[in-house]
Amino acid sequence: MTRQTESSSRSESFRQAAEQLLVGGVNSPVRAFKAVGGEPLIIERAEGAYLFDVDGNRYLDYIGSWGPMILGLSHPAVVAAIRDQAGKGTSYGMSSPLEAELARLIVEAMPSVEMIRFVCSGTEATMSAVRLARAYTKRKLIVKFDGCYHGHGDSFLSQAGSGLATLGISASPGVPEELARLTVSLPYNDVAAVEKAFAEHGREIAAVIVEPLAANMGVVPPAAGFLQALREITSRHQALLIFDEVIAGFRLAYGGAQAVFGVKPDLTTLGKIIGGGLPVGAYGGRREIMQMVAPLGPVYQAGTLAGSPLAMRAGIETIRQLQAPGFYDALAVKAQRLADGFRAALKANGVAGQVNVAGSLLTLFFSPGPVTNYEEAKRCDTKRFARFFSEMLQRGILLPPSQFEALFISAAHTDQEIERTVAACAESLA
Ligand code: PMP
Repeated sequence: MTRQTESSSRSESFRQAAEQLLVGGVNSPVRAFKAVGGEPLIIERAEGAYLFDVDGNRYLDYIGSWGPMILGLSHPAVVAAIRDQAGKGTSYGMSSPLEAELARLIVEAMPSVEMIRFVCSGTEATMSAVRLARAYTKRKLIVKFDGCYHGHGDSFLSQAGSGLATLGISASPGVPEELARLTVSLPYNDVAAVEKAFAEHGREIAAVIVEPLAANMGVVPPAAGFLQALREITSRHQALLIFDEVIAGFRLAYGGAQAVFGVKPDLTTLGKIIGGGLPVGAYGGRREIMQMVAPLGPVYQAGTLAGSPLAMRAGIETIRQLQAPGFYDALAVKAQRLADGFRAALKANGVAGQVNVAGSLLTLFFSPGPVTNYEEAKRCDTKRFARFFSEMLQRGILLPPSQFEALFISAAHTDQEIERTVAACAESLA
């Protein structure tokens, strides 16, 4: 097994060069190892379940590019589709048939989505969906949930998950107070808090935006009835319900979390898997609402590279692969096996912890009790997580470098690799 410590000289010189030129040496804060110590990895190539750094060290990868790589890294069919498309042109500044083709695949998978607009990231999708919800309802307030992450749009940065949770940033400077006041953040899974917010501000709330499976404070499934209650309350108050399925879409199931939990949102935001590892996002929903977007309507939103033929081809090929019978069941079985292994290792070593698992996503929380919301997630022993992370890395296993993120399992993770991970977990905890 290759270990990070074996060789790191080229990585070190690339890191030093990057630190002079890139903020923190990275282009997304979650790639820095700030919460776990150590230095960010400098990757040269990827294959299957493995990343290879510039020193030739190999890592069994559970980040999966933070969600898109459900088929595994550098999947041959996806790479071939990208190569083929590159030969025909990378961007046209005009429409191609690929956009409607990917849109059709999404619409067929998610009946709540009748029309779509492609953008270039999940952040753009959620920002645009909120603008549209405000225009449609002629209201200003947005309700979100503590520990959920909806990208870095100004309206979403209070009590947010992902990198903000990792770095302990509860609100970002640079967001005008006047705008921040228009976002109400409530505890996840707390229907009473939602009822109360609507009782007080019901006529001003444009939308509730939620991760229908929270995965940015670590994995936190919705409590029974939570999403149904959001549907009922928003409908009663003529507010829109936005499911942010940037992670869950085509991940929790082919039809996303909305298929699993049987709740129909008004708008859905997507990203990650639908671009097969290329930059993409999308928002879509009820035709009547989507028709308010330019050029059909007055709500303005545009993108030079939106609907990129490369990203569309990668997304189409990825989604086609997901249609293989039993694809999601096989992933879930592996995730369960990993979760069971982690639980057994916790028990055997007398370490307090919880494993939350949903489909192919899981988080090992070093928490004293169950984790059902952000408050409980924040009780985790993050120092212990940091030690665990580095023990695992020394064994060639790359976890997301934060207690507040999900492990992503791909089709390229074999039973043997799951077993190796469980064994490394037991050793690391010991
Ligand atoms: N929504 C959710 C649920 C996400 O997990 C993310 C990114 N992790 C985003 C939105 C933002 O997507 P992007 O990073 O592509 O802007």
